[in-house]
Amino acid sequence: MPSIAENIAQTESRLKPGTRLVAVTKTKPVEMLLEAYNAGSRLFGENKVQEMAAKYEALPKDIEWHMIGHLQTNKVKYMAPFVSLIHSVDSLKLLKEINKEAAKNDRVIPCLLQIFIAREETKFGLSEEEAAEILQSEELQSYKSVIISGLMGMASNTDDETKIRAEFRGLKSLFDSFKQFESDQIKMQELSMGMSGDYPIAVEEGSTLVRVGSAIFGSR
Ligand SMILES: *Cc1c(COP(=O)(O)O)cnc(C)c1O
Repeated sequence: MPSIAENIAQTESRLKPGTRLVAVTKTKPVEMLLEAYNAGSRLFGENKVQEMAAKYEALPKDIEWHMIGHLQTNKVKYMAPFVSLIHSVDSLKLLKEINKEAAKNDRVIPCLLQIFIAREETKFGLSEEEAAEILQSEELQSYKSVIISGLMGMASNTDDETKIRAEFRGLKSLFDSFKQFESDQIKMQELSMGMSGDYPIAVEEGSTLVRVGSAIFGSR
C-alpha cells in the first residue's frame, strides 16, 4: 500500500497551478493527520465541528482548517476562533450566526455558498436562485464579519463522466456569473469542487480547491 505521503504527491501531481488540495481528514486519527502534515499538507477538511476543534487543539497551529460538512447554527461558536474557510453555507440564517461569532472573535470568516448541483440526489445545498437571492440581500451587506469568497458543490455519485463534467461546468459558469454581485462582502475567488472519485475532472473544469479524503487516507 502506498503511504499517505505518496498518495498526497500523486494527488498533487494531477492538480494545476491555482488549484489547492484540501486533505479531507474526517474520521481519521491525529497520527494520520500528522503524517499528512509532515508530507507538507497544510489545508485540512473536516465535516464535524467538535472533531475539528479537538484536532485543532492537538496539531500544529499553521494548519488551515476547512469546514466542509453540513452545519448547525449552535455549533458555529466552537470553530469561530480558528476556522479558515467554511465551504458549506446554505442559508442566510447560518451566515448571520457566523457573522456574530466571527465578530466576537475579532475575525472576518471567509465562507462559500454550497450549491446543489447533483441532479438526481438529495444533497445539501442552495439552488441557483436561492444563492442569487442571498448575494443580493441587504442583510448580507450588513454582515461585516463574513465574506463570501466563492462556491462549493458536489457532483452526482456516478461513473458517468459526461454527467459529472456537466455539473462541474454548470457550477463554474454560475461562479463566473456571480462576479456581477461582487462587493466588499462578496469576492468570487474560490471554487470548491472535486473529491477522490472526480477531482481530475473538476480541475479541468476550473476548480480552485479539491477536497480529497479516501484517495489519500484510505476508505472510511
Ligand atoms: C467526505 C467529503 C469529501 C471527501 O470525500 P472522498 O470521496 O473521501 O474524497 C469531500 N467533500 C465533502 C463535502 C465531504 O463530506
